[in-house]
Amino acid sequence: MKPHALLCSLVVIASLARAAAPAAPPALPPPEATEAWTPVPPIVTAPTGQPPSDAVVLFDGKSLAAWEPVRANGGSWLIEDGAMVVKPGTGDQRSKAAFGDVQLHVEFRTPQVIEGEGQGRGNSGIFLMGLYELQVLDSHNNPTYPNGQLGSVYKQHIPLANPARPPGEWQSYDIIFIAPRFDAAGQLVSAARVTAFINGVLVLNNVEIQGPTVYRGAPKYAAHADQLPIVLQDHRNPTAFRNIWARPLDARAAAK
Ligand code: MG
Repeated sequence: MKPHALLCSLVVIASLARAAAPAAPPALPPPEATEAWTPVPPIVTAPTGQPPSDAVVLFDGKSLAAWEPVRANGGSWLIEDGAMVVKPGTGDQRSKAAFGDVQLHVEFRTPQVIEGEGQGRGNSGIFLMGLYELQVLDSHNNPTYPNGQLGSVYKQHIPLANPARPPGEWQSYDIIFIAPRFDAAGQLVSAARVTAFINGVLVLNNVEIQGPTVYRGAPKYAAHADQLPIVLQDHRNPTAFRNIWARPLDARAAAK
């Protein structure tokens, strides 16, 4: 090989070697660049078995002052041993406070003495916004249509599990409800959604509610207020409630 050709070959080899060398990785931004320091979450104290410090307490075991009968000629329920108990025939009770998006905690106890069967056993209900029922039922060894058992969105969603305890035992309902949105013309923009746990077990996972609960036929949305009372159902069974509290989640309410 002539000296010139040799030199050219060496230059080519050197160039190839340079091209094959891995590029230096780009410098990563400092870790502080991805730290968010605002907003600072508010401090909420949450003692075991007690309402969180920022909750609206709807029943504390002593007073029904946060509730009123839905029917004009209805009556109040009873307080027995720190529980709010359905007095059959008095009718549904609604919270005086109104809620839209909300985290709701309710403890309930179906009657220890079993009377009736299916939908007739320990039936009550939690109506978000007074319209959308999450079923309360004694579903311990009590077959019924599954979209009507404990933990269902009544006649709309079958719960993912049946964590029902035996009649006479206290149980818990934890609900995260996102209210429906309507535009200025009253048209539905987004349906209501709900997530719920019974006794800590997930029964509804961010399901879409199809409209207000109806016993017969298909549900259908109609525009309503951004916030409405929570309603507890008198289904003529002496179901009991205690430790009821709510945490409003609605930014629209906070902005008012
Ligand atoms: Mg019911």
